[in-house]
Amino acid sequence: MDALLDGLNAAQKSAVTSPASVVQVLAPPGSGKTKTLTARVAYLISHECLQPWNIIVCTFTIKAAREMRERIRGFVGEGIESKLILGTFHSVARRYLSRYGQEIGIPKNFGIADTNDSKSIIKRIIERQKYNVEPGPARSRISKLKAKGVSAEQFAATQKKVEQHEFACIYADYEEYLKAQSLLDYDDLLVRCVELLRKHPVCVNNVQAVLIDEYQDTNNIQYDLMTLMASRMRRITIVGDPDQSIYSFRSAEIKNLLRMRDDYPQSIVINLENNYRSSGCILSSAMAVIEQDESRPSKPLIATHCVGEQPTLRHLATQHIEAKWIVEEIHRTKTLTAGLLNYNDYSILLRSAHLSLSIERALGKAGIPYRMVSGTRFFDRAEIRIVLDYLRVINQPDHNDALVRVINLPSRKIGDSTVKALQEEAETRKVTVWKLILDCAQGRKKPKCKISGPAQKGIEAFVNIILTSRQKLLPEEDKECNLLDLIYHVLQKISFEAYLKSTHKENWKDRWANVEELVAQATQMAALGEEADDEALPVVEGVEQRQDTAADVLSKFLVNVALSTELDRADGEEVNQVTISTIHSAKGLEWPVVFIPAVYDGSIPHSRAEDHDEERRLLYVGMTRAEALLYLSCPVKQSAQEDTVLSKFVSSRSIQKFFSHSGPSIGCSVIRDLAQILRRPCPLAEDVQAARSLLERVEDNQYPFTREEIDGEEPSWNPIGPSSDAPEPYSKRRRVETS
Ligand code: ATP
Ligand code: MG
Repeated sequence: MDALLDGLNAAQKSAVTSPASVVQVLAPPGSGKTKTLTARVAYLISHECLQPWNIIVCTFTIKAAREMRERIRGFVGEGIESKLILGTFHSVARRYLSRYGQEIGIPKNFGIADTNDSKSIIKRIIERQKYNVEPGPARSRISKLKAKGVSAEQFAATQKKVEQHEFACIYADYEEYLKAQSLLDYDDLLVRCVELLRKHPVCVNNVQAVLIDEYQDTNNIQYDLMTLMASRMRRITIVGDPDQSIYSFRSAEIKNLLRMRDDYPQSIVINLENNYRSSGCILSSAMAVIEQDESRPSKPLIATHCVGEQPTLRHLATQHIEAKWIVEEIHRTKTLTAGLLNYNDYSILLRSAHLSLSIERALGKAGIPYRMVSGTRFFDRAEIRIVLDYLRVINQPDHNDALVRVINLPSRKIGDSTVKALQEEAETRKVTVWKLILDCAQGRKKPKCKISGPAQKGIEAFVNIILTSRQKLLPEEDKECNLLDLIYHVLQKISFEAYLKSTHKENWKDRWANVEELVAQATQMAALGEEADDEALPVVEGVEQRQDTAADVLSKFLVNVALSTELDRADGEEVNQVTISTIHSAKGLEWPVVFIPAVYDGSIPHSRAEDHDEERRLLYVGMTRAEALLYLSCPVKQSAQEDTVLSKFVSSRSIQKFFSHSGPSIGCSVIRDLAQILRRPCPLAEDVQAARSLLERVEDNQYPFTREEIDGEEPSWNPIGPSSDAPEPYSKRRRVETS
């Protein structure tokens, strides 16, 4: 017990050991909510004798789930944590549907329509019906309706206006299409799981506790899922922070906090007030930003670390110079701290993924390894999507979208017009494209559209690849469904390496390396205990259990890919790379050094954002990811023509005082503070000295960008207030607690 509670403060301990059935922990960033939630899971297992398979834990990112497993493993021992039902809402729902989905008519090998798939399905429906509707907004509207639990039929029944009719038809057609293809979109995973648990509550009969991280971002359907999962024991722990609610575009309902108090009047609220993540100065600046929201109730937040270095707010001439400056700061701070910081201690957090381009270029030029978390996910890269699409078709030949994307990749002389004609014919005859081409290849029935001789041969070759690959899924062929073999078989059949060589002369090696990485990912994901996860779901009497066949391993892999983010790549932890992420995807995470570039009006707050309070919270979330060093920057010019205006969230004089405008000067005392904040050994003074002289010697000729290149082009900009004018750092203004 004591080991379990060691290192927790009094409020955290009371949350961990609370006998109350419903506990809400509401607290600011870095106050140890996730840590507390993790300890409570361990406490329930070790002190209340709950079995891990009787506990459901929902975290927001799979990365957080993985971290939690590791923490729990530390408390309760190897092997036990793998029996927890732990994951994002989507992945927990996926597991219930894989296991018991047939009870509500969901086939076992269901696929996932990811956002791209959904968009293209809706686009085709709109084009076919010649509706005057944009696909993007239609998709988000459907998603919003699903999040609210409004089905296509319910929507159609309540709409009287003619202009809603078109949208109602799109929604209905979209649903019909997904059903025909055995696809579920992201929202369906939740909606259908709610349906399953409503109709068959017996599936969660064994659940004795439900714990939710990042509760402020749950939407209505997730709330329903939570209450259904906890329907038997009504034992729930949630942790969250209203100031970090940043997902209203995904219909997150901050009201769910209040709703929970109504639905569970017995719930108790525990507040945590100590911040264990960030330096005092970083906290002060973040608090100054969030406190501009006057409607927000004021809450105490106490820094436990030393004051640290003032965050930096820097104006640079252009986006390119901004990117170079970031690279230079990484290089400078990393070198000067003589081994204290590694590349994976740095993250660059963006309001929008497209801002990464100039930063990626600058990092690339400087030879700094990095990985992108959002934007182009690893699994969204062109070469990876091709391989995944082949696997999707092999898993489910009826997956029209995947099939038409790869039927002529690499080229098999099946022209676009032939593919389009096949698609249209399939739609009119209400069969799948696979059925058409299978009949065509096997000479059973020719399609009505004209197929040239070479195209016929191409179709035969494609069908042959799919059929021989599917052979590999048959139990007698390979009981374990070795994904590795399957992928290599496909790669070899489509001569993928040669295809990449011929189509991407300049970077085919990188692309091929990505493909090899995919193979490694597939092997690891398959081995990473998803199977063990499913064992956690109980055998329920009266509800049929599905045993995994070889093909199920493939379909689970594909579902996991669809649900994963770049941060979830199995090797993520160990790789020594700078992280580039959107702020949204960085929620719940922390890094010693954080850069937030492009802090100008139009970027943050985003020009299309309606809710500026939410944009401010987003900046707050970004800033509070930083432990030791925080940099905000703003290019004076966004493009050749457009000048930017510093974001209104940091432009006021009272806020600017929290920032330095030159960047931290890394001396020995700063390094000592950094080491203290990061709880790492402090480098020796002589190492620091050696690093300093090395940097001075190499700076001019070896460093990718010279200081003049950056400083020389700096705009004339007047930092407000000399440093003596700066307010007391946060930790001094309020009660300081030293850890
Ligand atoms: P966020 O709102 O950003 O998700 P959080 O409240 O979940 O933050 P955690 O991620 O749990 O915060 O904790 C932040 C950091 O503080 C972690 O590195 C954690 O290990 C550390 N921490 C939490 N509680 C304590 C404590 N009592 N003593 C020392 N360190 C702590
Ligand atoms: Mg957290």
